[in-house]
Amino acid sequence: MAYAYDPQNIFAKILRGEIPCTKVHETPHSLAFHDINPQAPHHVLVIPKGPYVTFDHFAAEASDAELADFTRAVGRVAELTGCAEAAGGAGWRLLSNAGADAHQEVPHMHVHVCGGRFLGRMLNVPE
Ligand code: AMP
Repeated sequence: MAYAYDPQNIFAKILRGEIPCTKVHETPHSLAFHDINPQAPHHVLVIPKGPYVTFDHFAAEASDAELADFTRAVGRVAELTGCAEAAGGAGWRLLSNAGADAHQEVPHMHVHVCGGRFLGRMLNVPE
């Protein structure tokens, strides 16, 4: 099945500079900025600059350069938050929602980098 990317999604608008973000880190293929509704003391979103809907879309169609750039950008963001072990932190979580069952709200591939407090177990069972 082909992936249908909506260029009017909010992260596409951030990438085009149409709405602001609080930038944390930028590389040739990736952008990291603070989540507007943080779920932890540190909550940063990392997105590829290319038009990918989900992580699986990104994994299937991104170039090796984009994949490597993105992976390193995520690691760098974990360091910049201070949560990574190399930065003296106590840990962090990487999470990516894809599709309706995962409650993906913004249809531009992104990962959440969260830390700064004890995060508990990985999943909450929905009510
Ligand atoms: P997801 O459910 O994985 O699609 O998460 C989307 C995330 O984007 C949520 O955590 C929102 O708080 C966040 N978000 C939505 N709009 C903005 C925005 N304009 N700037 C920063 N974060 C946003």
